[in-house]
Amino acid sequence: AAKAAGKDRVVAYDVTLRERQLQRIDVVDRLRTAIGTEAIVVHYQPIVSLSSGQFTAVEALVRWVPPGQAPIGPDDFIPAAEDSGLIVPLGEQVLRQACRDAAAWYHEYGTKLTVNVSPRQLAEPDFASRVRRALGDAGLPASALILEITEGVLVAAGAQAEQCIAHLGDLRRAGVQVAVDDFGTGYSSLAYLRDLPIDILKIDRSFMPDAATGDAVQQVALVRTIVDLAHTLRLTAVAEGVETDEQTAVLRTLGCDKGQGFHYGRPASADRTAAVLAGALSAPAQH
Ligand code: C2E
Ligand code: MG
Ligand code: MG
Ligand code: MG
Repeated sequence: AAKAAGKDRVVAYDVTLRERQLQRIDVVDRLRTAIGTEAIVVHYQPIVSLSSGQFTAVEALVRWVPPGQAPIGPDDFIPAAEDSGLIVPLGEQVLRQACRDAAAWYHEYGTKLTVNVSPRQLAEPDFASRVRRALGDAGLPASALILEITEGVLVAAGAQAEQCIAHLGDLRRAGVQVAVDDFGTGYSSLAYLRDLPIDILKIDRSFMPDAATGDAVQQVALVRTIVDLAHTLRLTAVAEGVETDEQTAVLRTLGCDKGQGFHYGRPASADRTAAVLAGALSAPAQH
């Protein structure tokens, strides 16, 4: 009976796998035609200084809005874009659009821009020059740009890992900052922190204390450990996924530098972000 069940499971798995492969081919075909058009939209989410309440940066987050359809979130197409290599032109479109949008915000409010970068992009031989060109064309200084990479970037880059590190080094010498995104969810975290040229550590949102899901003391102790680790390495600590007043209070107590999450603002269109930044500037600083 066990053998029969095992056999059934294998068959069922094969069918879903095949369906998923077909779906992915369809996504890749449709995404290919969307790249370069207005169907690729960039939204922005604020990053807030926990000491002053000021919006110090916005993170660019891509959305795909096929004409006449509901927006598709990045989790539903970035993996296919990475596998197919479409992430390279897609990522460049997002970077160039975001630099153009953010230039005005930087000049008016000093708000910086942070952009997610995939391993495939970072491994491109001309990645650093593409970034410099996007900055120059938009009139955004290098010191206003932060690039977010994940801990897995060197594993994903394989033989090109050295080249990725060299690109990050080049860009950092030009004034660009580098952040490790989703910190704590990957593997070999400490070796990465040692080997990668980085400035900022973004603590994954799964570490935010949540009274509903277990031992609060232990959860807070874990965040404290990550914040202290960041500071020991002279990195800026940014908490992701901050949703409540309580979490903000804990993060302030722990000396975490910055926060990002629905508590401060959801990702919003460029127009809406411009209005929010204008309002935040005229309103008294939030404490
Ligand atoms: P990420 O870079 O870690 O971005 C943060 C994600 O968490 C965003 O999801 C954001 O909407 C969500 N988030 C922010 N605050 C909260 C909160 O308080 N609670 C909860 N539950 N979620 C929050 P989004 O926009 O769906 O993006 C998902 C991921 O897709 C990003 O994670 C990033 O890894 C990737 N991504 C987005 N845009 C790009 C891009 O242009 N290029 C690349 N390579 N990846 C991108
Ligand atoms: Mg990110
Ligand atoms: Mg993240
Ligand atoms: Mg993420």
